[in-house]
Amino acid sequence: MREWEHNIRNVEPYIPGEQPKSVGVIKLNTNENPYPPSPKAELAARDFNFDRLKLYPDPNASQLVHGLAKYYQVLDNQVFVGVGSDDVLSICFLTFFNSDKPVLFPDISYSFYPVWANMYQIPYCEIPVDKDFHIVAKDYYRENGGIIFPNPNAPTSLYMGLDEVENIVKNNQESVVIVDEAYIDFGGQSAISLIDTYENLLVVQTYSKSRSMAGMRIGYAIGSQRLIEAMQAVKFSINSYTMNITSLVYGSAVLEDEEYFQECVEKIIATRERTKRELAELGFTFLDSKTNFLFAQHKKIHADALFEELKKKNIYVRYFNRPKIDNYLRITIGTDEQMNKLFAALKEIINED
Ligand code: PMP
Repeated sequence: MREWEHNIRNVEPYIPGEQPKSVGVIKLNTNENPYPPSPKAELAARDFNFDRLKLYPDPNASQLVHGLAKYYQVLDNQVFVGVGSDDVLSICFLTFFNSDKPVLFPDISYSFYPVWANMYQIPYCEIPVDKDFHIVAKDYYRENGGIIFPNPNAPTSLYMGLDEVENIVKNNQESVVIVDEAYIDFGGQSAISLIDTYENLLVVQTYSKSRSMAGMRIGYAIGSQRLIEAMQAVKFSINSYTMNITSLVYGSAVLEDEEYFQECVEKIIATRERTKRELAELGFTFLDSKTNFLFAQHKKIHADALFEELKKKNIYVRYFNRPKIDNYLRITIGTDEQMNKLFAALKEIINED
């Protein structure tokens, strides 16, 4: 091995869900929203002056920060924005988890957490979820260098009540506690209401799911001024211009369309509930989802086989070949029409078996 090769950082990266190149795929594998973003984004695009592209964007992303602050009724300096919540969460790991004590997160959870921890050489401890896949709050009442968990959790889809979230924060006031609320709009209650009570609480959300803007890459964190200021210092030590000008303009515009947002979320919730009934009839069991996906297993056919058979029929879902969850499929809720095609395909596969 040449000497410079010894100096290369050795990391095992996160593997995102497949983005198929071919048309005609029913894509239920990365929890995107099947509906378009608010028409306000298109209007903003129409009015967009391309001459603005010659200038750097506002490094403080003030327009978007202000829009989010107004939307959530917090101060501008309680909001941090980034290139999707993955970017925001990565900055969180770098900013807050500098202890020799382990950072805690659930063993069945967003698989990016251990990747960031390894990348930044942060010690961590994965806390087992219970036998029904629930996060148990009291398991987090122990010495730690920080805590992070999604609520609702992914890929389990399970939601933890706000009381339990508060218990974790209350019992860990010497640590930064991060609640990753990527899926909160599909039926949960956000912990943003607690940020003025707990200076150590940070809530992270995204435009990628409920706001139908995964392609735009917008995520944000809401927390105390002290936490936001620390994240800003780290961000400005890496890249001043993270948010491109179109993200700032379109991202702000859609916040003005609450009616459309609610309508989309309600449609997905209705389809999710219908999907639960249809899948149950086909012999599936699943956890009680409060997200835009279901985590399901079939009583007879292994998840791996179902995944492959669905793929042959141009329907993509997500399969994780990992201990405890290797017989589950994570199925994103699409339109009713897409889900009907999924049910028909599953019926065929199950009847052939
Ligand atoms: N957190 C969780 C729990 C997720 O499932 C995802 C989506 N992969 C993200 C964060 C990141 O989403 P994004 O970067 O698109 O905001």
